[in-house]
Amino acid sequence: MNKNLKNFFYPKTFCIVGASSKEKSIGYELLKSIKEYGYTGKILPVNPKAEEILGYKCYGSIEEITEPIDLAMVVVPKAFAEDSIDKLLNKNVGSIILVTAGFKEVGKEGEEAEKRILKKIKNACARMVGPNCMGIITTFNEISLNATFVAEKPEIGRTAFLSQSGAIGAAILNSLRETDIRFGHFVSVGNKADISENDLLPFWQEDKQIKTITFYLESFVDGEKFINNFTDKKITKPVIVLKAGRTSSGMKAAQSHTGALGSSDRVVESVLTQFGIIRANSLNELFNSAKGFENFPLPIGNKVAVVTNAGGPAILAVDSLDKNGLKLADLSENTKNKLREIVHPEGSVNNPVDLLPGGTAEQFKTVNEILISDENVDGVVSVFVEPVMVPALPVIEGINDIKTKKPLLQVVMPLPEFWENYRKNSATRKPLFRNPEDPAKVLADMLFYSNNMKGKEFLSASTSKFKTNKSGFLQPTEIEQLMKKYRLPSVSNQFIKADSINKQMGKIEFPVVVKGIAKDVVHKSELNAVKVNIKNKKEFNEAVEEIKKSFAKKKIEVEEFLVQPFVKGKHEILIGGFRDPSFGPMIMFGSGGKYVEVFNDTCLKSAYLSDEDIDQMINETKIGKILKGVRGENPFQISKLKKVIKSSAKMMLDNPGIKEFDFNPLIITKDNTIFAVDVRIKM
Ligand code: ADP
Ligand code: MG
Repeated sequence: MNKNLKNFFYPKTFCIVGASSKEKSIGYELLKSIKEYGYTGKILPVNPKAEEILGYKCYGSIEEITEPIDLAMVVVPKAFAEDSIDKLLNKNVGSIILVTAGFKEVGKEGEEAEKRILKKIKNACARMVGPNCMGIITTFNEISLNATFVAEKPEIGRTAFLSQSGAIGAAILNSLRETDIRFGHFVSVGNKADISENDLLPFWQEDKQIKTITFYLESFVDGEKFINNFTDKKITKPVIVLKAGRTSSGMKAAQSHTGALGSSDRVVESVLTQFGIIRANSLNELFNSAKGFENFPLPIGNKVAVVTNAGGPAILAVDSLDKNGLKLADLSENTKNKLREIVHPEGSVNNPVDLLPGGTAEQFKTVNEILISDENVDGVVSVFVEPVMVPALPVIEGINDIKTKKPLLQVVMPLPEFWENYRKNSATRKPLFRNPEDPAKVLADMLFYSNNMKGKEFLSASTSKFKTNKSGFLQPTEIEQLMKKYRLPSVSNQFIKADSINKQMGKIEFPVVVKGIAKDVVHKSELNAVKVNIKNKKEFNEAVEEIKKSFAKKKIEVEEFLVQPFVKGKHEILIGGFRDPSFGPMIMFGSGGKYVEVFNDTCLKSAYLSDEDIDQMINETKIGKILKGVRGENPFQISKLKKVIKSSAKMMLDNPGIKEFDFNPLIITKDNTIFAVDVRIKM
């Protein structure tokens, strides 16, 4: 494990540059949090004026410190920050947290200062968290470090949490007594000048005390690097991401269908799903799922039993199951018989099981036991709304006592006093959920994770011999070269200069398609420049004249005519790709032809595809389902299609120079052939 990284979370000595004796100042509150939380290492506060603060001996300067510093935190005003960093690096400090703000986030001058500092950090082979961040926490007893200015007492858990926003981090810490979130590591990474999710993801994977990895992110510093941790199968722990900023703006200046259809949030969504990374839609979801992973066994299927003492909340719970792809389990006859002996005749022994408001602690426990041991049931959600006659605590505790290898999640809707009572008097303090909708997403996330653990093999990049150093659209000969190399099926293309049409006519084998080509024409059919099923010379001449005429109307000259054999198609599909600025090579499959945007029937994935991903692309699109055969039609040979998708992705991976490409359409015939008839590759 990298020593500098490790020292952020497991420091034996901890230096605070800018410790202060002024109450309410960051330098004071920080020291106070550290003291009150009981840090096990040695604290080395630096302050030129004070002898001691809060009982700790102060050092007048960094130079005065003689012992090695594992971790240093800089909280001085911006004007002194760079100097402090210099002095720390002079002392060979390898791990620095720069809390001070006023860098990249405030503009050009700050950005330059940040760059300068980063360069020094890199030159010294040190690592830095921040700037503009709010600190770090390790709850584990061996360290007990709360180096933040929120003086709460976080409880020990095995979740690691990275927050790109200091305020979100602080809000989470402020909420701990209410939310019962427990974590092992907490870090606010601020501007992510150096340390980012890309360092901490592999670090936490390696740290045996961490079970679940969670991120609040506003951006990915290098999305492709992030996902390569997954394509290389380095990550086995559950990873949950809350990604803020769901903008739907398309890729800027996209010149292909594929680029325009791949908005940035769509990219994030598809990439996270593809690599088994859980996406949370809110902080509540993020920590609910983290609690699920940490405290309950993984479900092995999606069949859930619900038990309740109240109709409404149970309905909401069931709706939420449905929304999250889970099912109400069909209870076995044996289970129902057993339930009949307990459940009030006016209640229900069908799923959701209703005990009515009179349901006692004993009934709740027995019913939960019966449900969880039904082999048709993969998990149970127990929903308890506290009525006047049945106190909540015994009900909850009774259910907490049940020993099971399946997840049993409890929703409690009690009087407010309950929570304090539960914290003080519960033997297990297992997490409880507050909304009937919550458990479904938790169970769905856990199931998603366990299904994704099944060994997928991802495509990887190799170096391509195809080289071109120009930018813009590739020329036909270059396209041909690439298509051959990746065995991508293309119709034969015959390019004829506009002025030698008559000379070349003899060589044409009808029926053909004639297309007018000019540099500025991207969508040929819009200009009436695609004439299909031309059967003889006469029709050919007419087509050529018509194309010339419609070009002339727009004051464009036809540079060449493209003549292709006419492929009598049954379906038109699209395969395309683009390079996302963050996540890199992406690939899209779907309905093709002139109406792609209208059909909007595409599936987008990272080009690091597994075979399962290719199957999914086909299964998730309407055209994919049609190609597999509907209403007694002969299915298309899907293996051929899969090969084409795979080689297209491979082409994208191997050739980083390709910015975008579009095969639109590839025509599929009824005798199982597939040909690209319109290919654009942009470098
Ligand atoms: P553009 O996308 O620039 O408008 P295309 O070359 O994709 O032009 O052609 C538009 C449409 O013409 C295709 O979607 C397809 O329906 C038809 N088409 C093009 N080439 C052929 C061909 N070789 N055989 C049969 N139909 C074709
Ligand atoms: Mg086209």
